[in-house]
Amino acid sequence: MDVRSLTIDQVQTGLRNKTFSAMELTTSALAFAQAENPKTNAYLLFCPERALAAAAKVDELISNGEMLPPLAGVPIGVKDVIVTKGVRTTCGSKILEKYIPPYNATAVDRLEAAGGVILGKANCDEFAMGSSNENSAFGPVRNPVALDRVPGGSSGGSAAVVAQGTAVVSLGSDTGGSIRQPASFCGVVGVTPTYGRVSRYGLVAFASSLDHIGPFSRNVADAATLLKVIAGRDSMDATSAFAPVPDYNATLAQSVKGMRLGLPKEYFAGLASETASKINKGIEVLESLGCTVEEVSLPHTEYAIATYYIICTAEVSSNLARFDGVRYTARSEKSDTLSDMYRNSRGENFGAEAKRRIMLGTYVLSQGYYDAYYLKAQRVRNLITQDFAKAFEKVDALITPVSPFPAFKIGEKVNDPVQMYLSDIYTITGSLAGIPCMSVPCGNTVEGLPVGMQLLTKHFGEETMFRLAYAFETAGGFAG
Ligand code: GLN
Repeated sequence: MDVRSLTIDQVQTGLRNKTFSAMELTTSALAFAQAENPKTNAYLLFCPERALAAAAKVDELISNGEMLPPLAGVPIGVKDVIVTKGVRTTCGSKILEKYIPPYNATAVDRLEAAGGVILGKANCDEFAMGSSNENSAFGPVRNPVALDRVPGGSSGGSAAVVAQGTAVVSLGSDTGGSIRQPASFCGVVGVTPTYGRVSRYGLVAFASSLDHIGPFSRNVADAATLLKVIAGRDSMDATSAFAPVPDYNATLAQSVKGMRLGLPKEYFAGLASETASKINKGIEVLESLGCTVEEVSLPHTEYAIATYYIICTAEVSSNLARFDGVRYTARSEKSDTLSDMYRNSRGENFGAEAKRRIMLGTYVLSQGYYDAYYLKAQRVRNLITQDFAKAFEKVDALITPVSPFPAFKIGEKVNDPVQMYLSDIYTITGSLAGIPCMSVPCGNTVEGLPVGMQLLTKHFGEETMFRLAYAFETAGGFAG
């Protein structure tokens, strides 16, 4: 069987018709993933025992004639910032190189309870900070579509395993674009749900008020299935929402005729020309489906990057304080005093980007600067959120590019953090507002590099977003 292009539906049909058993599928998926991984470095670790045990359970259900749960036998990759009980979770950092979590993230529990088979842990930027996966302490990930290019970040490994066919779906995390941007660079679907839709319990905290867990897949229906499984209230995360979880797949195929789409004018300046032409073509496809299109304005967009890098670094400086050489982590052997031990353990084991953000965050929270930076940034964040609320009074969804340019070459931006930060210019606003957003493939450039189109809707508007994405995919928009 060819595991490279399987969808959740095909896995279920194959199991039901006994074309293959879950054991057979898992064994070949693991063998294929292990053989292919050296090309991309997308998996940091495989967990064959856990995968085979999960597969055996699915086969038992089948032999007992029981109903198959929604992810039965589906090979899955999990970003290495999401904890897995008994399986090393590094967050792409040397400081957690040997960390074995004693518990599972809620999302992991839920996908395993739904029959999902976790093959391994996906590479990422250190603590999810980055846009290219080059900040991983365990080496960069290569984009399966063009091996000399980055897969995007920070969930580069999660996007790459789905694009490479070494998992059917995967979990990533998004704080400012880390699901959507790599999805767009690798030509797959990536979804950042509403903040609070999916429990963050067991997602190692980067910037807690912005962190989300979300799915990657090769088609819209699979993303909807995976989101339904992991979404919903969890008493272990006080910010998780009580709102009931709709059956997204049930409404996927509903017509989008008459849907009102907004094009925020601030998002269409400064695009690489091929990106612009692909997105414009995508918009034409949506119009041909009966959607109406109008220009809207999100006037505070220009402040988004500055706002994000104040809020996220402030939260980083606090969240990363726990990695102190005592708990979880690598301890420096070189220290005589306690404060030396803290300093050396952190100094030796955090990478440059983590250090940069801890310092920036400590600065913006310090006495005398707190009001000028942190408090002001929180106010601007509110204005950005209101921009979206006003736009959604007029339109059902917004359509934008995901990134100003397609996947860049490995090494091209590593020495210029500001350039790197600018790659997230169109994704950060949605994260600050906490609204659902996704990237759908929208064709390739002449060089064959994928372009992603971003769809955004109001809080808990995932059903509308998925419907639109599904209609676009079905109309051939993915081929662009
Ligand atoms: N690239 C952005 C950053 O470095 C977003 C990262 C993310 O969403 N985790 O902060």
